[in-house]
Parts: sequence; structure tokens; C-alpha cells
Amino acid sequence: MFLVVAIPAMLAGYGWWMISSFQRLLNIEVQERAVLIHDTLGVSLQDSLDHEDLLLSRLMRLEKSIGEDVLDYTLLRRTGDNRFEPVAGFSGEHIFDSVFTQTQYSLAWGRHQAIASAARETRTHERVLLVTKPILSASGQPWGLANIALSLTLHDELVSRTVSRFVIAMLIAVLLVLLLLGNHVRIFGYASALHKHEAKDKIKDDFISVASHELRTPITGIRSFLSLMMEGKFGSLTDEGKSFLREAFAQTSRLTNLVSDMLDVSRIEQGRMEFTIVSLDPRDVIRDVVTSLSYRAQEKGIALDVVSELNEHVLIRADRTHLQRILTNLIGNAVKYTSKGNVHIILRKSGSKHITILVQDTGIGIPPDKIEMLFQKFSRVHSDETRKVQGTGLGLWITKALTEKMDGKIYVASMYRRGSEFSVVFPNSA
Ligand code: ADP
Repeated sequence: MFLVVAIPAMLAGYGWWMISSFQRLLNIEVQERAVLIHDTLGVSLQDSLDHEDLLLSRLMRLEKSIGEDVLDYTLLRRTGDNRFEPVAGFSGEHIFDSVFTQTQYSLAWGRHQAIASAARETRTHERVLLVTKPILSASGQPWGLANIALSLTLHDELVSRTVSRFVIAMLIAVLLVLLLLGNHVRIFGYASALHKHEAKDKIKDDFISVASHELRTPITGIRSFLSLMMEGKFGSLTDEGKSFLREAFAQTSRLTNLVSDMLDVSRIEQGRMEFTIVSLDPRDVIRDVVTSLSYRAQEKGIALDVVSELNEHVLIRADRTHLQRILTNLIGNAVKYTSKGNVHIILRKSGSKHITILVQDTGIGIPPDKIEMLFQKFSRVHSDETRKVQGTGLGLWITKALTEKMDGKIYVASMYRRGSEFSVVFPNSA
């Protein structure tokens, strides 16, 4: 708001100062021109001042050669009562409304110098400059006064043109300032909305972090009591009781997974996840993960195998624990979402600088319209095939975040009901 007022005010002040300086310069120029005309005419008339006929003929000749802006030229002589009366001159019968004429004459006479004042032509209202200067006779004695009326029309037109140009420039400047301010206000609005959004996000992240931490201890407690009960430490149970207890224990496992995924999400989002990047052989990590998941694959009758397309020994730059987590998620999902067929893990080179680990399955696949949202938090594909499969919808988000934090990339390709292929690409450290 301050700028809306201050900038145009500054511009107006500067404009006013500029125009008045311009006007002052023009005034000086007009006055100098008047004095020059005075001097020229004075010299031309000097030797004819006391010869009436000669003076009149000279005046008539001069009238034709003088510029159009000279509206009036009058020679005045002092009368007995100290007044000045016109004796000769040329004039387009102009009358000027100046009230100071006699005072101006006396001043010019008394001070022996040119005195100027502004007046108006009474008929045309044209602005004029009246300049009075003593005129000397050929012998160098003060003879009388000469008075010139110079038109200021041209001068006024120039000033008014400058003023209107300045007003247009100022309007454009004000418009630009308003546009800039509008933009500024909009950007400020976006910034504050973003700030609010970020603040909300932070509250949500903090809540997830605190809630997950607080949930961990009671879940561990519940799980240990349940396992003691299952072991019969508090007396024997009926078969139905044991089955309920097993179900309760399975549910606490889901809860533990959810809490641990949520903790990872908040650690990644708050930049608290630590990474120890080393050169490692991806085959070692793949082997460990495959070993830990092979029992589950066997249970489902799925063949789980590793195919290395590499002849030479390769190393990649990654954090071992996080790579393990990435592969556990991808291979675990491949086993989880495949009911028959196989899961292949393929290791191959991508150019000279990258190594790709591919996880292919012959499972349920992903509908094309769901592929985009797979890596979002809590996103799961809801279908008949996935209804009974347990999951948090956080695994792929964590996988993508961990991969990218280690300068890797993740890709997915899938054919609905035919199978999926997830691949992670890491920099080759060799
Ligand atoms: P979830 O814990 O639900 O498995 P993820 O983030 O790991 O969470 O996966 C998100 C969703 O992506 C899953 O719910 C599933 O619908 C789909 N998905 C992931 N991997 C596969 C796969 N190999 N085959 C088919 N669908 C998959």
C-alpha cells in the first residue's frame, strides 16, 4: 500500500521539479531573445530617434523583418509628470492587461536595465512577455524607453505538451507499479499458502513419528503376553482359544510392520535416515534376501531364482541395509502378489556406469491406470486378488525413497493378470 502511494508521489514530485526547471529555462531563453531584439532595434533606430519621418520609415521597414512572435514594439518618452507615453512603434493593435506598465517603465528608466513582466492580450488571452529597456540616442544619452511584447504561445504549447507527455508516462508507471504489486501480492499469497501447507505437513509428520514411537512399546508388550499364553504359561486353552490367540498374534505382526514402516517414512521425511554408502557386491545381498524369502515362496509353490547376466564381478555403491530393505520389499511383493508361476531376479549391466536388479513375477499384475499411484504413500490396488493380501501400502514409497537417496532409480512395468517387473538401477562403483 505504501508503495502504491510513495512511487506515484515520488514520480509526481520529480515531474513537477523537471517541468518547472524546463519552464524556468524557457523563460530565460525568451527574456534573452527580447533583450537581443531590443539591442538590435535600438542600434538600428539610434540615429533616427530625433527625426520623426526617418524614425517612422525605419520602424515600418523593421516591422516587416521582425519575427511573428513580436506582437508589439513601442517607443516611449517621459512626460513632465514622470509618466511614459508612446511616441512611435509598430503594433497589431494589441492591448495588454498589465497593471504594472507605468511602474515597469519607471523601474527600467531608473535602473537603466531591462525589466520584464508577464501579461495577457485582452482579446485573444494570449500570454505575452512585456520587456522594457531604456533606449539611448546617438549621443549616448537616455532618450526614452522601448517596450517589446513577445508572444508566449509557442512556449506555453511546449510546456503543455511536455506536461501531457509526463502525465501519460506517469499513468503508465502507476499501472506498472500496480501490476507489479498485484503480482507481488499473488506470489506472497502462494508463499504463505505453501508455508501453511508445509506447517501442516510437519505437524502430520511429527504426529506419525510420535504415534509410531509410542505404539512400539505397547505392541511389544502385547506380543510377549500373547506368546506366553500360546506357550501355555497361563494354563491350557481350548483349540478355539488357541486359534483366536494365533489370529491375535498375526494381527500384532501386521501392526508391528505398519509401525515400523511409519517410523521409516517419518525418518526419511525428516532426513533422519542414515546412509552408509559402500562398494558392495549386489549378489551377496540378493542371495541373503532370497534365502530369507524362499520359505514363503516354497509354501506358495512359486519358483524363486536368481539369474545373473554378468560374466564379471561387479560392485555397486549403496547402503547394505537399505539395499536389503529395497530388495526384501520388491521380492517380497513379487512372492506376495503371485499365486502360481515364478519369480526371477535378474542382475544385468546398464551401460558401463550402472547395474540393474530386475524382479520379475508371473503374478496378478497391476491395472495400467493404477501404475502412476503405486509409489504414493498408503496406495494399494483394491481388487478381488489383493483383498486377502495383507500390506500397508508404504513399502513401495519407502523403496523408491531409499533408492533415490542412494542415487538410484526405480522403474515398473506390468501386464494386468500376467505379471510385473520392478527394476532398480544403481551406480556401478567399479
Ligand atoms: P503393500 O504393503 O500393500 O504391498 P506396497 O507399497 O509394497 O504396499 O505396494 C503397493 C501396492 O502395489 C500393493 O498393495 C499392490 O497392490 C501393488 N503391488 C506391488 N508390487 C506388486 C507386484 N509385484 N504385483 C502386483 N501388484 C503389486
